[in-house]
Amino acid sequence: MNEKKVGRIFDIQKFSIHDGPGIRTLVFFKGCPLRCRWCSNPESQKSTCELMYYEQRCALCGKCAEACPSGNIELVEGSPRVRHNIDREACKGCRECVKICPNDALKVAGSDMSVDDVFSVILQDYLFYLNSNGGVTLGGGEPAMQPEFARELLRRCKQNDIHTAIETCGYVGWNVLESLIEYLDLVFFDIKHMNSDRHKTFTGASNERILKNANRLLKVDVPIIIRIPIVTGINDNEENLVDTLKFLVRHNTKDAIQRIELLPYHKLGVTKYRRLGRTCELHDLPTPNPTFLKQAGLLVRSFGFTSEIMEIRV
Ligand code: SF4
Ligand code: SF4
Repeated sequence: MNEKKVGRIFDIQKFSIHDGPGIRTLVFFKGCPLRCRWCSNPESQKSTCELMYYEQRCALCGKCAEACPSGNIELVEGSPRVRHNIDREACKGCRECVKICPNDALKVAGSDMSVDDVFSVILQDYLFYLNSNGGVTLGGGEPAMQPEFARELLRRCKQNDIHTAIETCGYVGWNVLESLIEYLDLVFFDIKHMNSDRHKTFTGASNERILKNANRLLKVDVPIIIRIPIVTGINDNEENLVDTLKFLVRHNTKDAIQRIELLPYHKLGVTKYRRLGRTCELHDLPTPNPTFLKQAGLLVRSFGFTSEIMEIRV
């Protein structure tokens, strides 16, 4: 039964107004094939469920250590205070520690949900979609990494006349993207860097597959919004933006691009790396120069596209 398909989801946000038309519900898929160094949702990257620890809330009571069936948490004497150690590799994401913590200091990012589970949350705001011409946007992470679940969820939405959108990094097999298009009203497609070596350095993968998929997608009859993150010292230069715009002009033969959104890098995700026991490599990176952002918006328009500089948010 299709309804039994299970997806790994790390968040469902309601009443969003940024990721598609009208009022929307955003469904965040866990797992991404890229490792962008500026990622503001690091909990989205790994496909496994991950324990997040909110140190400021922790009273070091030790109840979580007692509750973990695998002994993955220990409180160790340290200076100036006791340390709370988590063996994250061994953690199974069972949530026993989360349930017992009196201070809400632990959370597991990632839940396995059926299509019915997710769709019942989506349906709670059905009237808002109708009244605002809104709908549902699948993001993440990369929804196309869980193609059968994503497809079934989109199919259920379309069956109920709910507008659908997806946010994709584009680094997926074309056959997978193609299998979702039938149930999509809008695609957000990221283009991060035109230089393949720099793309690989900063995201972990070269850009050829992404550009090839962008080209193919632009030949299909689906509206597209291109998203370009603007990251200080990485791609905040005119040369890269011009190369991106030339590429898009060349391949936008069906006029499918609705607009180009520029997403300025922000630091709001840095604390999440700490909660995951990781270090954000770019924690010192300044946000992009506002003058460059303004010029970038003008440059986009000079190539005949509508541009929008997106607000900083998580
Ligand atoms: S149960 Fe909660 S408050 Fe107590 S040590 Fe664990 S994380 Fe900290
Ligand atoms: S989620 Fe489960 S396995 Fe992981 S640390 Fe907590 S109790 Fe242990």
